[in-house]
Amino acid sequence: MGASHSTVAENVTAIQERVDRAAARAGRKASDVTIVGISKTFPAERIREAFELGIRHFGENRVQEWESKAPVVEGLAATWHLVGHLQRNKALRAIRLFHTIDSLDSLPLAEKLNKDAGEGRRLPVLIEVRLDPTVTKTGCDPAELSRLAEGVLLMPRLELRGLMTVPELTADPEEVRPFFRRLREIRGRLSRQLDWLMPELSMGMSRDFDIAIEEGATQIRLGTALFGTRQTK
Ligand SMILES: *Cc1c(COP(=O)(O)O)cnc(C)c1O
Repeated sequence: MGASHSTVAENVTAIQERVDRAAARAGRKASDVTIVGISKTFPAERIREAFELGIRHFGENRVQEWESKAPVVEGLAATWHLVGHLQRNKALRAIRLFHTIDSLDSLPLAEKLNKDAGEGRRLPVLIEVRLDPTVTKTGCDPAELSRLAEGVLLMPRLELRGLMTVPELTADPEEVRPFFRRLREIRGRLSRQLDWLMPELSMGMSRDFDIAIEEGATQIRLGTALFGTRQTK
């Protein structure tokens, strides 16, 4: 997204303008869209920098990577999101490190999180939905979604807040619009079926967050647009 040579401050300004315009086009309030800075591969100092510029939500996709960074940003009043696939054997570590698990994708994982969350905790979760049948990525199959959601609603230590999706990269960002629209429709249907409000729709990344906002995103997950180009290992 050509943001590699800009500063985080410049990036935040540019993102906010795009959010404002997209929200205006959709007749929504820009304040209803939360920016989740995806800090994977970037040093924790960048998180602090973004925090000082007003970003209050951050996401990482790997428990282990976050374990090494979390101490550096301890004490920041931010919300930490896990946005990548979680293995069951890391559930307890994830619960200790993150405020919300945005990539819940199976009933066994939900059961493990509910068990490990401990007395008095209510862990917010989003169910990640795999909408693109051509890719074998993580996420719950739409056909199994209502079973998973019903299960989660019965778990006292989990709070189902909404849905998340990670569409495949397409040549033209416009091509992902139908996936975003579909996630919103699925959320509506599921909400009515379960009689349970799910306020959050986490969808849209650096290339396509404008489109996601037009389709109803309440959380956009921005890595490159906020922190610059990631170094590939
Ligand atoms: C890396 C990542 C992002 C951010 O991707 P960008 O294209 O750099 O904005 C968003 N969501 C998830 C789940 C990711 O792993």
